Amino acid sequence: MSSVFALVDCNNFYASCERLFDPSLKAAPIIVLSNNDGCVVARSPEAKALGIKMAVPAFKIEGLIKQHDIKVFSSNYALYGDISSRVMATLESLAPQIEVYSIDEAFLNLTGFEQMGSLEKYAQKVQLAVRQHIGVPVCIGMAPTKTLAKLANYAAKKYVATFGIVDLTAPQRQRKLMELTPVEEVWGVGRKSTEKLKRLGIKTVLQLAQMDKTRAQRLFSIGMVKTIEELNGEVRFSPEDSPTSKKQLMCSRSFADRITEYEPMRETICEFASRAAERLRGEGQVCSVVNVVIRTSMFNASEPSYSNSATARLSTPASDTRTILKAATDLFDSIWKEGYRYAKSGVMLGDFCGKDKVQLDLFNDSPSQDSNNSLMTAIDQINLSGRGKVWFGGQRPKEDWFMRRENLSPAYTTRWEDLPLVK
Ligand SMILES: [Mg+2]
Repeated sequence: MSSVFALVDCNNFYASCERLFDPSLKAAPIIVLSNNDGCVVARSPEAKALGIKMAVPAFKIEGLIKQHDIKVFSSNYALYGDISSRVMATLESLAPQIEVYSIDEAFLNLTGFEQMGSLEKYAQKVQLAVRQHIGVPVCIGMAPTKTLAKLANYAAKKYVATFGIVDLTAPQRQRKLMELTPVEEVWGVGRKSTEKLKRLGIKTVLQLAQMDKTRAQRLFSIGMVKTIEELNGEVRFSPEDSPTSKKQLMCSRSFADRITEYEPMRETICEFASRAAERLRGEGQVCSVVNVVIRTSMFNASEPSYSNSATARLSTPASDTRTILKAATDLFDSIWKEGYRYAKSGVMLGDFCGKDKVQLDLFNDSPSQDSNNSLMTAIDQINLSGRGKVWFGGQRPKEDWFMRRENLSPAYTTRWEDLPLVK
């Protein structure tokens, strides 16, 4: 049986969140600005139609803003984090395996679903549920690998006739879309790789899919080989080595067994915070926002449910594990509640900027630990070498609380009680 992944991606997420609580914004052009440099980080469709590009500084479009009465918001990560956790909770109630990829994207593992009815009908159900429960529009792309699901999602966004849903499980449809799509749209192919690929004459996704793998390894990296294999329908990316999102970094998992105690829950947060910080450094980024989420199971209606998230802004952007751990555990303490059977937790880092762009906070008397980061570099080298592992206090050396995916029973029917089975 071949695998099926669905990528659910919220449309213009930050702008959609701002719109939720103010009906007067329904058809208004909206832009959301980054906190660091006042650049556009989200646009409603109306703002896109006015020709406003991503990442343009607000001062450069002041005239446009006045002329069209564009509503301008600064990023409200506490709001986006909260709406995100609600979207994810809804998705979890509809699919047995979800991997939260970024604040507004999640992969659902739908392997086996196609035997119970049309994937497209299932996706319509998901789209409607998120719209009804939370009010956020989503696009859904489905395919045998995550890289192809990303591509399907790109098509769902680009082509209006799809109504936001693309089933890319059929090889001939994959081929057709790959032929039409420029190579820079491939998941994980950054600007530098795009330039290099184009110099080699590889302009479309299909050309990349047909690239010789030995050559790709020689000229690029093993990551590019994996991408090529994924474009050919072979599953290669695990949650740990998937290409990272440029906007946020998310570490979150369901637990093998429910957790009811404070200490082991706190350990999961420490583990995710440390991993996220490590990956952040690997990307040469620093973050200014830390978000923590905890929740009970979305499947069991007989148990009391609890879901909460909290967000903090760092006074100085950081990638130091100690800074991120401290913020994450403080946030965890602020939302922890005794008496529930927890099924999931997660840590998200957001609002990135390159390390070189960091300005020290004038009012922060402790200089950033990132300015002298040899300790973190040493730890990363040890942990990546495979020769040993260094942990921070609070982290747990064993990962026995993770969901054992290989043992997951396909009890879909008991879980998607909302879903009619179309035969
Ligand atoms: Mg999105």
